[in-house]
Amino acid sequence: MKKIAILGSTGSIGTQTLEIVRNNPDLQVVALAAGTNVEKMEEQIREFRPLAACMWRSEAAEDLRVRVADLDVKILSGMEGLLEVAVFPESQMLVTAIVGMIGIRPTIAAIEAGKDIALANKETLVTAGHIIMPLAREKNVAILPVDSEHSAIFQSLNGELAGKPFRRYVEYDGKKIEKILLTASGGPFRGRTREQLKAIRPEDALKHPNWTMGRKVTIDSSTLVNKGLEVMEAKWLFGVELDQIQVVVHPQSIVHSAVQYVDGAIIAQLGVPDMKLPIQYALFYPDRRPMRGERADLFALGQLTFEAPDTDTFPGLALAYRAARRGGSLPTVYNAANEKAVQLFLENRISYLGIAELIEKAMDHHKVTAAPNVEEILEAEQETYAYILSLL
Ligand code: MG
Repeated sequence: MKKIAILGSTGSIGTQTLEIVRNNPDLQVVALAAGTNVEKMEEQIREFRPLAACMWRSEAAEDLRVRVADLDVKILSGMEGLLEVAVFPESQMLVTAIVGMIGIRPTIAAIEAGKDIALANKETLVTAGHIIMPLAREKNVAILPVDSEHSAIFQSLNGELAGKPFRRYVEYDGKKIEKILLTASGGPFRGRTREQLKAIRPEDALKHPNWTMGRKVTIDSSTLVNKGLEVMEAKWLFGVELDQIQVVVHPQSIVHSAVQYVDGAIIAQLGVPDMKLPIQYALFYPDRRPMRGERADLFALGQLTFEAPDTDTFPGLALAYRAARRGGSLPTVYNAANEKAVQLFLENRISYLGIAELIEKAMDHHKVTAAPNVEEILEAEQETYAYILSLL
């Protein structure tokens, strides 16, 4: 029996993780955490019977406590509750499906407690990769990517680990990797000009062509900021240099990413766009379990196409490389500025093109701290939020 805890259980990745739990009787959920969706949390508690459940807001936790008073489940709230779920004694693995920098502290706590991490919280590595990866190595904890692209890269690298004993902390022979080909669908506005993007409204940007995802990541996909965050994540996860990561626009979203080796061989992972595969792969690594569902039909697909990203129209990606190259606290600013700008865009307070403009302004304004600690990362986040609001 494998026991897991989930941060962000009511969101898109969280609910899909629970679907995998439902289909695999040897998986058990021992603790759950969510933001505000009390109704869904109650349903999840009644179905999966965790020992503890945390709601971010204390009012939501109060509400939940009343709703599940008939059950033996410990109800928690706030950061204290998130931390308790993260290090829950009965769990072996933490699924970090929470969105935002709120995931940093719980992830660090879980690694310190020796829990393997199924990582879906991008912000953790983007802003604190320099803290997380050395800590994972020290604690011999596996960081298993849940993001489809990183899972594809991980799967494409596994042949290179064959014959070696399974270790939890996975390290790659960087000398064998020439580059990582990180695929991107290009989002719903691929091929458009900046002129055409001026009038984009939130409802246009919330329609993703291939993937079903949360609201923020859907907007981030359309601006290529999501890809920018993924470039930074890949750098930390696979220990490669920034210049070894090449973004490839692949509108069909069948090739989920690839690794090009020093002998020219390219190993890729292909499949239909469905997050359940990367989630399941992380949960059972190094095993590969059967999974029902649609298969990629190569005859029906006919052809797969690839093109270079248009970084002039979508500056979000170029800004990510700039932030990552400078490093320190600048990736935090990139991420925080985007988070705030996307929120403002969804509230119809700034234009679509204003998202990347605000990121750039915040990056220009920031004085970079090299190797920031967690407090400094969270400070840079708050400063960036305040700066963006001061510009309105
Ligand atoms: Mg992705």
